[in-house]
Amino acid sequence: MFFLTRFPHIHITTELRPGVSAIMRKWEISRRLAVWFWGILALLLSAEFYGGLGGSARALYRPAAAEDTGAESASCAGAAAMKGGDCSCSAGTERTARLESSGAIALTFDDGPHAVCTPRLLDGLKERGVKASFFLIGQNIDGNEEIVLRMQKEGHLIGNHSQNHMQLTAESARAACEQIEYTNQKIEAITGSAPGYIRPPYGSWSEELSLLVPMSVALWNLDPLDWKYQDKDTVVRYVTERAEDGSIILLHDIYGTSVDAALEIIDILSQNGYEFVTVDELLIE
Ligand SMILES: [Zn+2]
Repeated sequence: MFFLTRFPHIHITTELRPGVSAIMRKWEISRRLAVWFWGILALLLSAEFYGGLGGSARALYRPAAAEDTGAESASCAGAAAMKGGDCSCSAGTERTARLESSGAIALTFDDGPHAVCTPRLLDGLKERGVKASFFLIGQNIDGNEEIVLRMQKEGHLIGNHSQNHMQLTAESARAACEQIEYTNQKIEAITGSAPGYIRPPYGSWSEELSLLVPMSVALWNLDPLDWKYQDKDTVVRYVTERAEDGSIILLHDIYGTSVDAALEIIDILSQNGYEFVTVDELLIE
């Protein structure tokens, strides 16, 4: 009603002769169809153009980025820009790139093998796909030969930690060499090869022993004193707060708390991008 009042000439057109009126209605319908057609076509073309610029990819990327840290998002956006707007890099790939750069850590276990704790540790390492280094006391090998064999089969490094945990520099060189030889022979009898690495108890070594013993010495640079505290959380906190690329962590697989700590350390440091290697990989330069 308003329309007709406001534009009375429209009403007039309906008063035209029937033939003319029909032609006018057809023309009006065709005009409206043409407007719709070109409008839809324009929308489709603009959507295609936007997609070609990577707009849709960026839109898909935003929700994923919102869950990550600002730094990761910015970094991913930078990677996307380098790839011509294709953010298929996604936060996951960015995280992988960061993981690869964090560094390598060696978990080392002294004083075993232990009949209960060591197999439990080996289970946890296997579950996580982690290789470690074990420095064995000769007298602890007796009765645990299967465990030593398992260490070898599962790719861990096996080293010498003397026969009975003697401080090697406190005795004669000859007595020290006998201690080392005793354990080397025990390990070789099980695995078929003598170890190439020795960790002297208390880290006590000398120039004289270096000349006499054709083995590499493997010390450590991160000691949470797990034997002293025997508390999982204390050990985990100490190690995870200090670990860095090249850390050689000293633990003892004769304590249940140390086994628990080691597995938790692996889980935490793995999430922070570290990989675990046997100690020889960090000592060879
Ligand atoms: Zn020891």
